[in-house]
Amino acid sequence: MFRRLSALRVARMRSLSSLVQTKALVNGAWVDASSRETFAVSNPANGQVIGNVPNMTVEDAQSAIKAAKQAYESKEWRSLTAKDRSNLLKKWHKLIEEHTQEIAEIMTAESGKPINEAKGEVIYGNAFIEWFAEEARRIYGEIVPSSTPNREIIVMKQPIGVAALITPWNFPLAMITRKAGAALAAGCTVIVKPSEDTPLTALAVAKLAEEAGMPKGVINVITTNKAAPIGQLFCKSPDVRGISFTGSTQVGKLLFRDSADGIKRVCLELGGNAPFIVFDSANVDKAVDGAMASKFRNCGQTCVSANRFFVQEGVYDKFVSQLKQRVEALKIGDGNSCDVQIGPLINKMQFDKVSGFVEDARTKAANIIVGGKALPELGPLFYAPTIVTDVPPTSQIYTEEVFGPVVSIIKFKDEQEAVQKANDTQRGLAGYFYSENLQQVFRVAKRLEVGMVGVNEGIISAPEAPFGGVKESGVGREGSHHGIDDYVDIKYICMGNLKYD
Ligand code: ADP
Repeated sequence: MFRRLSALRVARMRSLSSLVQTKALVNGAWVDASSRETFAVSNPANGQVIGNVPNMTVEDAQSAIKAAKQAYESKEWRSLTAKDRSNLLKKWHKLIEEHTQEIAEIMTAESGKPINEAKGEVIYGNAFIEWFAEEARRIYGEIVPSSTPNREIIVMKQPIGVAALITPWNFPLAMITRKAGAALAAGCTVIVKPSEDTPLTALAVAKLAEEAGMPKGVINVITTNKAAPIGQLFCKSPDVRGISFTGSTQVGKLLFRDSADGIKRVCLELGGNAPFIVFDSANVDKAVDGAMASKFRNCGQTCVSANRFFVQEGVYDKFVSQLKQRVEALKIGDGNSCDVQIGPLINKMQFDKVSGFVEDARTKAANIIVGGKALPELGPLFYAPTIVTDVPPTSQIYTEEVFGPVVSIIKFKDEQEAVQKANDTQRGLAGYFYSENLQQVFRVAKRLEVGMVGVNEGIISAPEAPFGGVKESGVGREGSHHGIDDYVDIKYICMGNLKYD
């Protein structure tokens, strides 16, 4: 038995190592940075370096843009039918599916995400490739009745050209597939700039795209820890026709501004400040389940994580005490062990931010009923799952996105107060509420100023549904059939002077 297990393990390690790439992908070649510089990728659970990847420069990014442009204009890519592109995406999907375990292991190693969640992300992220493989064949145009005789109005959708995709570390795979799946389905070519914290997952899926037969230059991956000048190049280059970015609001605003000169297509998925409202009419057990799922997935490091909990007076004590029990039972540690539910924070900057926010609340007389401390015995980036009550509206955990395992709870009296407080932010990505009252459900769902609403549900993202925000949380939608829109131009062809008689 032992011999069989270790043989399996050796086989798995071999296949894992074949997916760990330490070079970037430009024009179908696995390359170093022109400067030969590299940067280290380390495991946030223990600080161990797990790989070194090219630290690419603006010059290298320029080569990637050139490659993507050539590929876009090449017969090899342009002559493909929608069905051909769909088939390529299906092959890519199949290969990712076959390598779920290996990709998840790479993801856990570089992001700290618990292995079960990492596997979940591979499945979820891969579902976008499957979805867009299906959508590729349904990018329909229109023939519109004309009011002028002897004329036909034809509307068609065409790919925008080269798209630059800048992605974050919190979903190292799904944020790439949600963008690249749509772009490739539409017929664009892409340059992916993954987060400096999680480039290995990006390179692994790019390797599988290559194996799936993606023509050279159609997908390029640029790894770098000097994102700003490369982002600026993407925005300024006339050869890049669209930018899709998921990350902080601050960087999103910068890219939006920089893209103005070139009047570029911009899709921004930025930060949230999600309200999670529990009404007296709620099923509290369901609300606690939803709160745990929404808040503690990926250690609270998701842009749709509940950020401010508003709980109505009548169910307040019950909700808080049940939530406290569940939070105290969370298993924290290296995401590699199967039973771990909470891993480390991604990096020191995040750690300082989360612990700083809790300290700020403490000094403003908030009540920390669970956690509220670092866990150095586990490693320097571990922070205890925390619940803070009596949160003053001036505290940072209330006004800003925590991006960590911290629940902040505010008691409210009536529906109007809850909705007003929920909307009292410049962010508007996701919002959640729990209510068994049908009238209230429709009223509140319509009034929340967010792009996505979870009603009696804490996890809402799906490939079939449009993901995106309002206010400063972004522009554009990803996933669903709307996800294609950012990668196509609408062209109107006026067929005139037709002789019908
Ligand atoms: P987070 O706080 O989630 O790390 P960031 O917005 O800093 O969010 O990072 C998200 C992605 O944006 C990463 O790939 C990062 O390298 C990239 N990035 C950071 N700063 C810039 C910038 N000035 N221009 C372009 N991309 C950037």
